[in-house]
Amino acid sequence: AKSEGKAGYQFFSQEMNQVNMRRVALENGMRQGVARGEFYLYFQPQWDLKNLRLTGAEALLRWHSAEFGVVGPDEFIPIAESCGFIFDLGELVLREACLHAVEWDLLCPGLRVAVNISGRQFRQHDFLQTVARIVEETGVRASSLELELTESVIMERAEKNIHALQALKWMGVRLSIDDFGTGYSSLNYLKHFPIDAIKIDRSFIADLVTDSDDAAIAEAIISMAHSLKLKVIAEGVESEAQLDFLVDRCCDEAQGFYFAPPMPAEDFTGYVKRFFAT
Ligand code: C2E
Ligand code: CA
Ligand code: CA
Ligand code: CA
Repeated sequence: AKSEGKAGYQFFSQEMNQVNMRRVALENGMRQGVARGEFYLYFQPQWDLKNLRLTGAEALLRWHSAEFGVVGPDEFIPIAESCGFIFDLGELVLREACLHAVEWDLLCPGLRVAVNISGRQFRQHDFLQTVARIVEETGVRASSLELELTESVIMERAEKNIHALQALKWMGVRLSIDDFGTGYSSLNYLKHFPIDAIKIDRSFIADLVTDSDDAAIAEAIISMAHSLKLKVIAEGVESEAQLDFLVDRCCDEAQGFYFAPPMPAEDFTGYVKRFFAT
């Protein structure tokens, strides 16, 4: 049994080594990848369920690496966070998203672009200045820009964050809480934060129709948000049955494969034109 344990340990450490090697390789690859223009933003349409109107899109980062193939954000964002590359990457995403928001605002005034902000990016001392500078440089209407922060990021250093969020609100930026319901949440904190919307995590939407617990949670989130005068966005909507449930409960907005998958910017331009023949 003893030697078995040792072999197991060796196997384990070998596996750890491989994970670390990929991590280091991706870390170095990312910097080259940006220089080579291998990072792209995809955009997933978001719909207003009451007025059946396109409200905008969420920007989702993609890496098409010549060396590693397609690498997903769930893998490279945490690496970028831990090595500090998230600052450059995050700025690139913000600028790109704002430039597209300007373009689409001309096609369809009021269309928004939502950008995911990672914890380390939000905590950086000059994050507010960076946002202000990019808004100024790109000429985006601040109200066309939405920042998505996760519940856990908002909750840590709550006191400090209220000021930062307030400053963003003064700039005119829209704020939403991403992955709502998955983190540690004291619902009470919501009323202290100057936020506009919460996004129900897609893990609750997935089994909405078959799992009565998930249905109850989604329903509770919607009614609580509404009593706090917050908008609710459902993410990961894949079926008509899910959509029906959400419309019945007066969920404000939704996104998901049922409407459209995330798509390249040019395709989203076509999408906007299709639904906004003026
Ligand atoms: P998220 O913010 O929760 O983004 C939603 C994810 O759900 C996206 O995965 C999207 O492609 C996927 N999705 C959309 N509709 C559906 C659906 O109907 N069903 C299912 N099953 N999934 C759907 P993606 O693009 O792989 O992004 C994963 C995560 O990576 C995002 O989760 C976000 O946390 C992070 N991420 C993506 N882009 C950025 C970025 O530019 N900056 C930062 N900091 N994080 C990003
Ligand atoms: Ca998001
Ligand atoms: Ca989310
Ligand atoms: Ca999520």
